[in-house]
Amino acid sequence: MKKLAAGNWKMNGTRAAVAEVQALLAAHPAPACEMLLCPPATLLAEMAGLAAGSALAVGGQDCHANAAGAHTGDISAAMLADAGASHVILGHSERRADHGETDALVLAKARAAIAAGLVAVVCLGETEAQRDAGETLAVIAAQLDGSVPKDATAGQLVIAYEPVWAIGTGRTPTIAQIAEVHSFLRARLSAHIGAEAANTRLLYGGSVKPSNAAEIFAVPHVDGALVGGASLKAVDFGAIVAALAAA
Ligand code: PEP
Repeated sequence: MKKLAAGNWKMNGTRAAVAEVQALLAAHPAPACEMLLCPPATLLAEMAGLAAGSALAVGGQDCHANAAGAHTGDISAAMLADAGASHVILGHSERRADHGETDALVLAKARAAIAAGLVAVVCLGETEAQRDAGETLAVIAAQLDGSVPKDATAGQLVIAYEPVWAIGTGRTPTIAQIAEVHSFLRARLSAHIGAEAANTRLLYGGSVKPSNAAEIFAVPHVDGALVGGASLKAVDFGAIVAALAAA
């Protein structure tokens, strides 16, 4: 399995920011891992053009569950693919919180993404209150079972474990906590989708930066990272890519 360094630019970046993509590709033309950047939809086509033929894949940050229709402001999976995306992030905690996305909706979006030929990057993670209440594994199990299509193959699916309290906060779980969740995730995914789980990438996300990437990538069943803030600068994301390539 090739490991994956994925970046989520969220609602950041105007056209000037694609210079970061040029810098990233110049510094890391052929890393020993996959690289993915998910910019705002406004930059997708331009970034995909720059990345064409390179080691960088480009993805969306969300898609609608329907293929087309009267859904003002939404974007379908086929539209993302048409703009040059190969992946789409789904069920990010910010969408679950800001837009009330349920597991059932994330599942429908994942099915739509896969039907359009995209890799669905499905995000899961507990809140701090849920961790404090000892509910982490139960929350993750419910999100996984409810959001991941049972017939997904390893090539169609990536899972990102992102504790909500670690996103954008500079705080990270301990290595033991990441190890516990990732080994649980592998087993649960295997019960859910069968043998394909062994080759499905399980990413850790939440305040990954150049200074902590190597120790996180050494954890068993961590097959890469989903990176927010540190993916905006080529020098930081490039250092994370280098740490993953060396892991
Ligand atoms: C994210 O939102 O997917 C994320 C991991 O953000 P950050 O790296 O900034 O914590």
